[in-house]
Amino acid sequence: MGRAFKLEDTRNIGIMAHIDAGKTTSTERILFYTGVTYKIGSVDEGTATMDWMEQERERGITITSAATTASWTRFDKKYRVNIIDTPGHVDFTVEVERSLRVLDGAVCVFDSVAGVQPQSETVWRQADKYRVPRICFVNKMDRMGADFDHVVRTIRARLGAHPVPLQFPLGREDNFIGIIDFLEQKVIVWLEETLGAKFEEFPVERLWDKAFVDSRPDVAAALKGSAIDKAFYEEHRNKVVEYVAEHDDEMIDKYLTEGTLSLEEMRKSIRKSTLALKIVPVLAGSAFKNKGIQPLLDAVIDFLPSPVDVPPLEGTNPNTEEVELRRASDDAPFSALAFKIMSDPFVGHVTYIRVYSGVLKSGSYVYNSGKGTRERISRLLQMHANKREEIDTVYAGDICACVGLKSVNTGDTLCDENKPVVLESIDFPAPVISVAIEPKTKADQDKLGVAMQRLAQEDPTFRVSTEPDTGQTLISGMGELHLEIIVDRMLREYNVQANVGRPQVAYRETIRKKATAEGKYIKQTGGRGQYGHCKIELHPIPSSSHENMKEMSSDELDALAKEVVGGPAGKWKFDKEHRFLFIDKIIGGAIPREFIAPIEAGIREALDNGILAGFTMVDVAVVLIDGSYHDVDSSEMAFKIAGSMAFKEACHKASAVLLEPIMKVEVVVPEEYMAAVYGDLNARRSAIQGSENRSGSNVIRAEVPLAQMFGYATDLRSRTQGRANFTMHFSHYAEAPNSIAQDIIDKAKGRSTRG
Ligand code: GDP
Repeated sequence: MGRAFKLEDTRNIGIMAHIDAGKTTSTERILFYTGVTYKIGSVDEGTATMDWMEQERERGITITSAATTASWTRFDKKYRVNIIDTPGHVDFTVEVERSLRVLDGAVCVFDSVAGVQPQSETVWRQADKYRVPRICFVNKMDRMGADFDHVVRTIRARLGAHPVPLQFPLGREDNFIGIIDFLEQKVIVWLEETLGAKFEEFPVERLWDKAFVDSRPDVAAALKGSAIDKAFYEEHRNKVVEYVAEHDDEMIDKYLTEGTLSLEEMRKSIRKSTLALKIVPVLAGSAFKNKGIQPLLDAVIDFLPSPVDVPPLEGTNPNTEEVELRRASDDAPFSALAFKIMSDPFVGHVTYIRVYSGVLKSGSYVYNSGKGTRERISRLLQMHANKREEIDTVYAGDICACVGLKSVNTGDTLCDENKPVVLESIDFPAPVISVAIEPKTKADQDKLGVAMQRLAQEDPTFRVSTEPDTGQTLISGMGELHLEIIVDRMLREYNVQANVGRPQVAYRETIRKKATAEGKYIKQTGGRGQYGHCKIELHPIPSSSHENMKEMSSDELDALAKEVVGGPAGKWKFDKEHRFLFIDKIIGGAIPREFIAPIEAGIREALDNGILAGFTMVDVAVVLIDGSYHDVDSSEMAFKIAGSMAFKEACHKASAVLLEPIMKVEVVVPEEYMAAVYGDLNARRSAIQGSENRSGSNVIRAEVPLAQMFGYATDLRSRTQGRANFTMHFSHYAEAPNSIAQDIIDKAKGRSTRG
């Protein structure tokens, strides 16, 4: 049996939006119309199909990204549409990143009243980074104050995009009944507001036919008081035609000589520009009232990429370190990325994979190229919204769930063992906040280990560690809500009862000055001795590079290494997580090759433990410049210790400072509470970035140290009688003010002397 859908007929899409814009409702409707959901869930009743996790239901937010397989027929051809769920909450930007990494195109849902909102902006920029072609859906056209043009303007102004409306809503608020389609020059009117409601299509000219309009009270009401007339329509349609003519060289000539373009040519040309990220087509509708969903699905097929429309994926051969490409084709060697691991209520532990190239059969073995391990896939599942279908083969470009993989983590590459490749992994930020967890009983203690391991496997931004001084278990993540959800899952899914400590900030350390130091570990009294000796230079990495170091190519890193050492950099190695550059400038065998790695290992260990208050040190470069060895007494261990000694010594001379995580905070607040919110933010050491009026509310933007944000949700609620809300996400690390740093250092010292 071959593949059921051609590669070109596959769409892997995500639906993204600011929280509350209607992402869940739109997804539900899409699943209904693609024929897989028979009983519709409704967010308000908390039964949405994709939001099956209990916490999500209770909180009404989507935090996991599962993938659902559906199909849609366009021009008598059946297409496969895989919908990758993206979360709507800012604490989970990493979920957004990981889904962007595996989808090929996206639908951005906007609220017709609010337009572009903070989260849509964040997600938009992430989609830019991954070069994901998009279409925009202006949802909630039935809402009081709905304004399609306003949304289009905000897309242009705030997102810097080039929106091209392909539709205009027919009516608004209670009178929103359908859409005018500029390409097909037709009108679609939904006759009811129920699911699966009948709709009617007619040529746009009928809107200018008085007799027709008079015979149709719904159409008459929609047109009443609106700007829509023949001139308005022609002006809007011409904008689309002219856009195509002006931006597509092939079309220009044709348009100039013939004065028109065929529907097919326009569609093709718009597809081309959308894929090239030059434009975003804009559509309108109301997911809640079941209007506009079918044309949205048509647009997904018409304008969003198939796996063959996106460039081949880059990976590295783990044996040769050479770059290799994986083309979307069944004939290419198998490669896939594990993008989500979760416990499925029906089948247990499943790993969602996106196949980039080749085919995979159930029952076969896959190679985890990052870890060098082999595992057998016992079953392959296609996840539909209402059923799990067992399949025996998954083909290039498709998404499915695997059962039976035990040691695969999110972000791992699975591939053909004979053609190993490590695909560019997903970039996960390091955690910024921790809490201590103390199991209530011995039985809980035993279950805790399993629970932690599973949860960490699913979520790469969640870490578990042991506090060295107290032996307590620490869990770390991206925000208070993130950790709350983890603790909640620990209790519900793994039945672990635990006391949870106060949240602690994950500080970092770095240095401000260059320093040179020597590490000597020499013991030569009687018997076999120890001899390790190295000399290093410690450099701060220029702050201009901090934020983008993770994305630098090897050429750019090479240039950075040169800049740091002020000359040829020799051999360097880069550790993304710590933004740590290790540069080896040993010449003439002053230290034999086999002792270089142990020196580096010693330095890394010291780096992990910091120098001021035990926090990981980041943004430093170490240049190994000299050293010596002894023919008999030198050992790996001796050089490791020497490396660590040299590093600590250098740090003491290099003006080490403490860094604290700074969060980007946006508070949406009614006018009368502005002063109260400002005052409170100021007391939290915040830097106000600006404020603006957005659809009747004030939005205050500020950068605030995470340490000052604990319990903010409760405080804000009481200061504003629950009328304000806020979003927060990690922005960057900045040097903590002296007095605060000293406090933290003293506390850390107190801890270690007491212990
Ligand atoms: P999400 O947070 O983006 O997933 O948004 P939801 O789909 O949960 O929708 C948020 C709220 O808006 C819910 O109360 C929905 O019923 C409502 N909603 C969604 N789509 C529409 C729409 O087209 N019109 C109106 N009036 N409300 C909608």
